[in-house]
Amino acid sequence: MAQEIGSRERTLALMAICGAALSLLLVRSAQLQVFDSSKYGMLSRQNRLRRIDLAAPRGLVLTADSVIIAESRPGFNLVLFATADWAAPVSRAASLLALDSAAMFAAVTGQRRQFPRDPVVLVRDLPPPLLARIEEHLDDLPGLRIETASLRRACFGPVGSHLLGFTGRIAVNQYDSLRDYGYGLDDFLGKGSLEQQYENILRGSDGYELYEVDARGRERGAPQALEPVEPVPGSTLRLSIDWGLQLAAESLFAVGQKGAAVAIEPSTGRILALVSRPNFDPNQFATGIRAADWNRLANDPDFPMWDRAVRSAYPPGSTFKVVTAAAALEESLITADGRMPRACGGSLRIGNRVFKCWDKGGHGSLDLHGAMVHSCDVYFYQLGLALTVERMARWSRRMGLGDRTRVDLPIESPGLVPDSSWYRRRTGPGSWRGGVAANMAIGQGELMVTPLQLASLYGAIGNDGQRWKPHLLVSAETAEGAVFRKELKIYDRLPLSPATIAALKRALADVVNQPGGTGGAARVAGVAVAGKTGTAQNPHGEDHSWFACFAPADRPSIAVAVLVENAGHGSAVAAPIAGSIVRTYLGRRQPRSPGQATLAAE
Ligand SMILES: [Zn+2]
Repeated sequence: MAQEIGSRERTLALMAICGAALSLLLVRSAQLQVFDSSKYGMLSRQNRLRRIDLAAPRGLVLTADSVIIAESRPGFNLVLFATADWAAPVSRAASLLALDSAAMFAAVTGQRRQFPRDPVVLVRDLPPPLLARIEEHLDDLPGLRIETASLRRACFGPVGSHLLGFTGRIAVNQYDSLRDYGYGLDDFLGKGSLEQQYENILRGSDGYELYEVDARGRERGAPQALEPVEPVPGSTLRLSIDWGLQLAAESLFAVGQKGAAVAIEPSTGRILALVSRPNFDPNQFATGIRAADWNRLANDPDFPMWDRAVRSAYPPGSTFKVVTAAAALEESLITADGRMPRACGGSLRIGNRVFKCWDKGGHGSLDLHGAMVHSCDVYFYQLGLALTVERMARWSRRMGLGDRTRVDLPIESPGLVPDSSWYRRRTGPGSWRGGVAANMAIGQGELMVTPLQLASLYGAIGNDGQRWKPHLLVSAETAEGAVFRKELKIYDRLPLSPATIAALKRALADVVNQPGGTGGAARVAGVAVAGKTGTAQNPHGEDHSWFACFAPADRPSIAVAVLVENAGHGSAVAAPIAGSIVRTYLGRRQPRSPGQATLAAE
């Protein structure tokens, strides 16, 4: 495994490799400057040299279980370099390829209006028979050349599309800023997720060949490359993702189901699986997406390109009760075994409104443990009133909500933790008292969290308060074999006493394992799963279904958050998905042996 290859000296922050990629670019531009004053400088200044790029293969993306999920293949583009006298050769190329010459002319004039000197790609990714036909006639096509390209392939299509991202053509308005970094107008670059986040590491550095051309842009004599520069392939990324788990987690979502699942290793912050449904196929973008495909994706009401695991924030519902409980314990408003003044009779009157418990029959008198296990709303309404919105907001922030986790992805939602000043601005003075505080205590109202934040928080509780920064990249390996490991960073420590954390862990374990607990559907034979259901009301239809958990409860190797949009009760929909993810992961980590047969079964 790559992590073992890296010696201590090589265990550098990944910034080093980003720096290496940048310095490579500086070397390149220095080379070009030296070159400028050399014997070819004059030719260059007179536009008498043609640069043919040699595409660098984009780096591979590997998972923790050594599955290649993104690779590159070489492609061949037909490119117009000549800036004059191009009509006849372009028309001849179109007829050789049986393509519409009017469309090609339009493409050339369209681009040249804005970028008069840049080469124009006439045909991308020529299939072999057409490539052979063009090469055969290249001498009759002055000003046209074949240029290599590196084409991206997502090996599993839509599976994992939200963690991988895609590569797409540089947008015209990006080109001015990117051209200094060695990009050509027709280059592709990472867009979204890891392809974008680690673009500098993945892209490598294109090489090139220079050809002397005459004043009319035609190559002189037999084509002969002057001072060729070899391309430097991009580095390979090694991810923390367990691909077997990713595949299993994706398959747990039914067709048409919208939602997300995040699995994290609590003791390192490594992300083991990151699912967002529906998904999309990054390969649609590999050679430039067709307008019809783009319109279909962009106008899909289910937003398949939107990463729900990281970019969407939802009301957390009862999964938030861990925060309310922790705040009340830390503020000494309750003790772990004290009972609330008012027993649950199925509802609580606050002012002139009646707030219902999810169980109309009522739970009777409960201590914190019982209130968590049965998810009693009336118990938590009373905690919310005692805590106030302000204190719940403060504890939410201390526990990492309302702020980005700083995962290594380009876009992340911070969620929302509304406090009294937020309500003052939004709904007027005093609007955050009473019912708002009661609702916040059970994770309803304006409070919003992402599935990633919730997985990270539950992982930290399971990990006795130590929260590692969630991340996807483990190491990068250059084409020459140098391995750079990403430094693990502790994000923070939850500001909770060991007694508070122990009380939460005991309660969460009983939510799943005690008869009558609301999380029974996440039970895994042979392992204590500790977790919490959530059912989040929302103004856009049926409730969202949540489950957040970690396992094994005492010393977890996995924490999971699952959200299914508009699916109803967390106990019925999200909990079994989370339970299956835990079961699959622990089964993969401990190969089946006679003594462990129960774990891998089901
Ligand atoms: Zn109740």
